Amino acid sequence: MRGSSSGMTAENAAEAAYIAGMRPQDILMPVAAGLCCKPGGFHIDPVRPVERAVITHGHSDHARPGHGAVLATQETLDMMRLRYGEHFARSTQAIGYGEQIRLGDVSVKFHPAGHVMGSAQIVVSCKDICIVASGDYKDAPDPTCAPFEVVPCDVFITEATFGLPVFRHGRAADEVKKLLASVALFPERAHLVGAYSLGKAQRVIALLRAAGYDAPVYLHGAMEKITRYYQSRGVALGELRMVKGMKKADLAGTITLAPPSATSDIWTRRFPDPVTAFASGWMRVRARARQRGVELPLVISDHADWDGLTATIKATGAGEIWVTHGQEDALVHWCTARGLTARPLDLVGYGDEDESDAVPASEGEEA
Ligand SMILES: [Zn+2]
Repeated sequence: MRGSSSGMTAENAAEAAYIAGMRPQDILMPVAAGLCCKPGGFHIDPVRPVERAVITHGHSDHARPGHGAVLATQETLDMMRLRYGEHFARSTQAIGYGEQIRLGDVSVKFHPAGHVMGSAQIVVSCKDICIVASGDYKDAPDPTCAPFEVVPCDVFITEATFGLPVFRHGRAADEVKKLLASVALFPERAHLVGAYSLGKAQRVIALLRAAGYDAPVYLHGAMEKITRYYQSRGVALGELRMVKGMKKADLAGTITLAPPSATSDIWTRRFPDPVTAFASGWMRVRARARQRGVELPLVISDHADWDGLTATIKATGAGEIWVTHGQEDALVHWCTARGLTARPLDLVGYGDEDESDAVPASEGEEA
């Protein structure tokens, strides 16, 4: 059938493709609400309310309230409940790593993404095509979540938050050593570490413990619920105390974790001569640290750096790469130069959590 005179509708065309053998874009397609799987009847990480959502992880740009049915890991569902309340969706279904379920004409399987607790890559298979939507991911070690797994596939959908060769994160443990050296150097000052409250804060605390720091770690009130949740899931974080109610003088020589936005407001006046630190992959860029008034930049990221992104793309063996949220162009170019089919995926509404660190109203109580 050729030309438009045939009167073929988009629906006929999709049906014909289905019969002839599907193409990846017949299985997953970017639409305004997010990544849509028509044959499965769901959206992945939708940014608008949909009937059926499949969600990669609990960060607020990926996990939003107001959907009909939500399929996600137990941890992601729990985090959504903590953030949005009991009625964040009409119904929920938990799925474990490695578990496979059928949705419409496709099968869906979850694998660890190594990004934050409960984070998953979603494998969508239909006929003989396998697509992996990785969500946010990192291949670096993180004691607070299951390690990233490489999933062989035909099409790999990768994030590109740090998709430029200048981004090389280094070892997070070395950054924590810098923090501890500063604490030892300035025993009369308080150390205030800006860290996103879901994932990054708990990872920094776990890294402090791994480095042998056993004094109490202090928390901004916005961190409490999610950090206690990590503890309830068996992540050892040692003794934690709330900043609220502490005398200023008693905070000398201590370490406090707070949402990045709190480290630049009047809240910091309760600390004696605070050293302001910020744990983020963006701290590789000195201008960003200066701009935020960060005295001690700590390059600790929950996203893969350039080497991590390119190594992962190679390891999946995928012949086709779709690149989304971040610096798409350099990664698309890198893929194309290696003979891979690659294209940017124009999805809107996703950002890096470190850059959208405003404390949600429900978590912003005096702390
Ligand atoms: Zn994320």
